[in-house]
Amino acid sequence: MPFVPFHDTFPDLAERETRTLTILDDAKLPAGDYALIELYCDEPGCDCRRVFFWVLSSQTSEVVAIIAYGWETPHFYAQWMGDNDPQMARALKGPILNPGSPQATFAPALLDIVQNVVLQDERYVARLKTHYAMFRETIGPKRKVQPRHQKKSHRPRLTNAQKRQRRRQRS
Ligand SMILES: [Zn+2]
Repeated sequence: MPFVPFHDTFPDLAERETRTLTILDDAKLPAGDYALIELYCDEPGCDCRRVFFWVLSSQTSEVVAIIAYGWETPHFYAQWMGDNDPQMARALKGPILNPGSPQATFAPALLDIVQNVVLQDERYVARLKTHYAMFRETIGPKRKVQPRHQKKSHRPRLTNAQKRQRRRQRS
């Protein structure tokens, strides 16, 4: 997985600038603190402009939800993928509970707060963009030698047959 915690590269800044939700009395969520641990893509040459949040419960020290969010428009993600599937573009933009990741039963309530409260804060979204830019700065352009050979891209790849199909559809 090419997404790595921002904290690994910038521990001090992450310490100061990680958002935490404090839940006191909520019918849908266990009370406690939930830290939004940011992860960014470390694939050289990639510009996916997304963040993954590991929502870490202070009560159990467990990641209880994994939320994916992209701050650009759906159009941006459609172009980035070279695909016009609006559903896929919307999924990349999110915020969504990342499909395939383990999620607590109350994860949808956390997504709701992240979507309707946390990400409505423009200063916070600006901070995410800054963190992304700082992090990407440490990755640089495409490397000649990949440090991890087994690494799989999170970006869906088309088979040659699908590409041909697509070209036919366009023409
Ligand atoms: Zn990426």
